[in-house]
Amino acid sequence: MRVNFNIPFTGDLTGMHDVELHIQVVQRILEGKPEQALRLLSNYYGVVAPDLRVGTVKRHRRVLGCYLPNEERIYLSKSEYLSNPFIILHEFYHHLRTSSGKKRQAEKRADQFANTFIEDFNRFHDSLHMTSD
Ligand SMILES: [Zn+2]
Repeated sequence: MRVNFNIPFTGDLTGMHDVELHIQVVQRILEGKPEQALRLLSNYYGVVAPDLRVGTVKRHRRVLGCYLPNEERIYLSKSEYLSNPFIILHEFYHHLRTSSGKKRQAEKRADQFANTFIEDFNRFHDSLHMTSD
């Protein structure tokens, strides 16, 4: 999937609405710039950005990705997942929850978190198609 909406990025997050954040973040991940997306997310939520690495972790070799709280690092099992918004956002949610003190790993909530971003992005995508024929 190749997406280029030319959204101007000023780096100014003040007054950024959730929907704008969601679109920016998903777009950056699809463009293969997951570190930028994680910085945007971390600034927005006021947490330190997690590290991101391609590799597998003992006892978690069969998962697509995982988050290690003690390293504050997201691991993706394949480099192609660096441009997968669902996986990155799901793992960021674990980082966010851990950073804010809640240790419980809520898989369903992490999925919902990721889907909120992707749904906003898809709505935005659809609206572009309607206005540009
Ligand atoms: Zn998870």
